[in-house]
Amino acid sequence: MSEHLMQTYARLPVAFARGKGVWLYDENGDQYLDALAGVAVNGLGHAHPKLTKALCEQAGTLIHTSNIYRISAQERLADKLCALSGMDRVFFGNSGAEANEAAIKLARLHGHNRGIDNPAIVVMEKSFHGRTLATLSATGSRKVQAGFEPLVGGFVRVPFGDADAVAKLAAHHNNIVAVLVEPYQGEGGVRIPEVDYLDKLRAICDQNAWLLMLDEVQTGIGRSGKWFAFQHTKIMPDVMTLAKGLGSGVPIGACLAYGAAAEVFTPGKHGSTFGGNPLACTAALTTLDVMAEEGLLENALKIGAFIRETLTRELGQVPGVKEIRGQGLMIGIELDKPCGELVKLALADKLLINVTADNVVRLLPPLVMSQDEAGLLTDKLAALIWAWLN
Ligand SMILES: *Cc1c(COP(=O)(O)O)cnc(C)c1O
Repeated sequence: MSEHLMQTYARLPVAFARGKGVWLYDENGDQYLDALAGVAVNGLGHAHPKLTKALCEQAGTLIHTSNIYRISAQERLADKLCALSGMDRVFFGNSGAEANEAAIKLARLHGHNRGIDNPAIVVMEKSFHGRTLATLSATGSRKVQAGFEPLVGGFVRVPFGDADAVAKLAAHHNNIVAVLVEPYQGEGGVRIPEVDYLDKLRAICDQNAWLLMLDEVQTGIGRSGKWFAFQHTKIMPDVMTLAKGLGSGVPIGACLAYGAAAEVFTPGKHGSTFGGNPLACTAALTTLDVMAEEGLLENALKIGAFIRETLTRELGQVPGVKEIRGQGLMIGIELDKPCGELVKLALADKLLINVTADNVVRLLPPLVMSQDEAGLLTDKLAALIWAWLN
């Protein structure tokens, strides 16, 4: 391990040399089943031939110009994302945190334009929005914030999943401009709210002229079995952020806006050197094309349901297993005690999983996972959890 890397990560002692589909191979050639996909990034799996080809061609043509000029791949990607989502305009950055920074700036500017000079944004407990100063301040985790005070102000926090708590804020605050929420919480423990939660938030935002801003950095791009998680409802958000799955590992983030919110940013108000460059946009365009061609939304629904049903059958009655939940290929298995140890045990068993919120085993498999591969995953994982609990 190099002594020259900053110690920001507690890394597992493995390095991967190559990948193919849902499989990764370490430097000794050992094969691992990837049920994490680089934390919801590698939706197409590893080394998808169409993505490899498109990236090689683009790298040999043009990698970067500047947002000083028009960028045709960026224009095509914006058109495509708006066609898929019904949103109106897109700003491109390079990560989830940057996409959320854009959303936070947009909400504040929208407030200032309406004469609110100390705008506040409603955020949720156990939320995760990134590691920049504004996004860690929006995040509902003391662990993420500790040591970085003073935090950025202008956030009001309520419990996740409690629309009444949001409605009550209207009576006491006249400076709220937006609600920022994940449709399903990822880092917070794969938490799925009641089905009408977003409808209720939409209604509250409409009543109070607040923007409804959805952080779909993890839930978007097919992870939930729809292009975007809000499409499981009938509402439209005012703002939506994307990143993880969008570029299949080539860094790209996006902040999309709808209606009046799409007209808030004017020239000079926001920007990014790399954001939306030809290489990143080619990665995203190819990702979206392959997802449609290969029916990966349907696959995410089908394989997600299969994994949840199988795990429920095998583990549902096992003492220590509290709940098996999820939507599409975003799956959580909540245990009754901290279970971070399972990550290392799974690694020894050549299976890549994650534990979040201390006691939730999290699966975010590539969207290309087949039923046979999902069967291998559930066999290994059920045996592992059963053995660990017994
Ligand atoms: C991962 C994540 C982020 C942060 O994305 P980065 O690319 O790491 O900055 C923000 N919001 C959600 C919901 C995420 O899951």
